[in-house]
Amino acid sequence: MSVPGDQTTQQPLRYGQADRPERPMGRSILRGFKGTCPKCGTGRLFRAFLKPVDACASCGEDLHHQRSDDLPPYIVIFVIGHVTVGGFMMTDMVWPLSMWTHLAIWAPITVLTAMLSIQPIKGAVIGWQWALRMHGFGDEDEHFDPGRGGPVE
Ligand SMILES: [Zn+2]
Repeated sequence: MSVPGDQTTQQPLRYGQADRPERPMGRSILRGFKGTCPKCGTGRLFRAFLKPVDACASCGEDLHHQRSDDLPPYIVIFVIGHVTVGGFMMTDMVWPLSMWTHLAIWAPITVLTAMLSIQPIKGAVIGWQWALRMHGFGDEDEHFDPGRGGPVE
């Protein structure tokens, strides 16, 4: 039985493969944010807007495993939504403008900042998943299903 404060309960959360060396999470997220491979930091992570490469051209790390899915848009909506709604409310207190004027100011700012931030945020999510060895980033045999404890039929 584990007791609070016991060394076994103080280990960082690992998604299996505890015998493998830990991947630095902050560095991986930062490399992904900058659009580079989370493993080597030199190869490009994206071949086109929001389209990740299948493998790093520099170190050969497979990156097709990434499953960032809906998380980058959720993060962008959360962050940009707070910034633009907060900005609208603050400027409206100082300079009361018509709703159409506010819309003409804040709608383009919202679209532009969302377009500029979604790819770095997607890269950061991919770097985070790589650091956690999620979705096949752990170099495991792709035909092995650890949930079933055996090969995939
Ligand atoms: Zn690489």
